[in-house]
Order: sequence, then structure tokens, then C-alpha cells
Amino acid sequence: MLDGQTCLVTGASRGIGRGIAEDLATHGATVVVNYRSSEKQAQDVVAEIESNDGTAIAVQGDVSDYDDVEDMHAEIHDALGPIDVLVNNAGITIDKKFANMTREDWDAVMDVNLGGVFNCTHCFYDDIQESEHGRLINISSVVGQQGNYGQANYAATKSGLFGFTRTIALEMAHSGSTANCIAPGFVKTDMLEEVPQRVQEKILREIPLDRFATVEDISGIVRFVAGEDSSYMTGQVLGVNGGMEW
Ligand code: NAP
Repeated sequence: MLDGQTCLVTGASRGIGRGIAEDLATHGATVVVNYRSSEKQAQDVVAEIESNDGTAIAVQGDVSDYDDVEDMHAEIHDALGPIDVLVNNAGITIDKKFANMTREDWDAVMDVNLGGVFNCTHCFYDDIQESEHGRLINISSVVGQQGNYGQANYAATKSGLFGFTRTIALEMAHSGSTANCIAPGFVKTDMLEEVPQRVQEKILREIPLDRFATVEDISGIVRFVAGEDSSYMTGQVLGVNGGMEW
């Protein structure tokens, strides 16, 4: 289904990004597995993809650093040529009540979750526009829709993606390429592990489907958006949250 497409997934060494990278490769895409520090885990993802007859390379780069992303762009172009699909997945949390949040906590989350999206989209913009199958897919969160106690910085970045994605969708539309946001609910990854157990139990009570999402719940939707069947959908936010209200 994705034969001939090259997809860059940022933050793909673990969690949702890993699931997305493996799923896209299983469905025929050539995948770039970006990571910041988890080299061994990123190489494991590449090995897993290759063991299933897929094609992938791992590329190190801190998405919050524009020079790093420019280097990534050069490395990817040398190895594979231009990409068709960019999945801006890399993200971090630094959770604190707003009263205790420092300017450094705010900036650090902004730099990765929004700055990283700027840097990657900016450096790969021409690739996506010039592809016959260009896709920009930004991983937001239900927290960008609802807000969440202790996550003012994170929620602001995830809401920010809605306006950013909508604008890029309008600016890219003439080329036929699309830009969409996926807003997962709470997904069983390292990020959720950092949430205290009693808070996890409270969240679970608010999920009509009565379970946290698996990585596969999210990667299947990303595959749809990356694929041909979504070509008339742009500027949208797809909630994948077990029926949570927002
Ligand atoms: P995770 O398990 O903490 O993994 C984060 C990934 O991002 C890692 O591969 C990490 O690589 C990478 N990363 C972090 N900072 C980076 C940077 N500056 N440059 C490049 N890569 C960086 O997170 P996750 O739960 O899979 O979340 C993935 C995305 O989904 C995030 O955008 C998150 O906000 C969003 N999301 C998550 C949930 C959830 O409940 N888990 C819900 C909604 C949305 P290294 O290990 O190499 O640092």
C-alpha cells in the first residue's frame, strides 16, 4: 500500500513513533527512524523492520536543533533521496502545576514539541510539496483539546499544532499534498508510565472504551492518513481517544 513512499518518523526509537515506523514499513514504505539519544533502541527498530523484509535507516538528530535537522535532511537525501511523508511524532513532557512551572520548563517543552515541528516541517517542506504523495502528519494529543492538570506547557504545544497544521494545509493545498493532525488519547508508553498510578486510574474512568490506547490503535490511523485513501482529507484533527469528550 505504501510501496515507493519514503517516510520520516521523528522520535521513532520507542513508544508511538516506533509503532508507526514498524507499521509503515510493514506496509511497504521505506522508513527513516529518527532518534535523539536512544541509538541502540533505534538500531533495534531498524533490525526488526529488516527482519520482516522491510527497509529502514536510523538517523540521529535532536529535532529542537535546526542545524541537526538540516544535517538529517542532508543524510537522508544522500541515502534515500527526498521523503514523501513526514510524521512529526517526537515529543516530551515536563509536568508541574503552573504555579511551580519555570520558564525553563516552558521553553524546553516548546522547543521540542513545537520548535521541533517547525524545524522538521521547514527543512522537509519542499520534499513534501514536490512529492506526488506528500503527507505531513503531526502527532498532537487529546490534552491539546481538553487541557490537563499539570500540563500547561504540553497542552499549549499540542493545541498549537492544530493552528499550525490547518495553516500548512491551506498553504500546501495547491500542490495536492496534505497536512493533518492526529490527537491520541492516553497511550501505553513510557510517557504514560511517568503519570502517577492514582492519576492513571482517574483518567481511565473518563475513557468510554474503558482502556488506554495501544500503540497499534494509533499506528493504524497514521497508516490511513499516510496512504492513498486519505488524499481528499486535509487540515483535520483526528481524535483517537476511546471516546473521551473534548
Ligand atoms: P515516548 O515513549 O516518551 O518516546 C518519545 C520519543 O521521542 C523517543 O523516541 C525519543 O527519542 C523521542 N524524542 C524526544 N525528544 C526528542 C528530540 N528532541 N529529538 C528527537 N527525538 C526526540 O513518547 P510517546 O508516548 O511515544 O509519545 C510520542 C508522541 O505522541 C509525542 O508527541 C506525545 O506527545 C504524543 N502523545 C503521547 C500520548 C501518550 O499517552 N503516550 C498521548 C497523546 C500524544 P530518544 O529516546 O532518543 O530521546
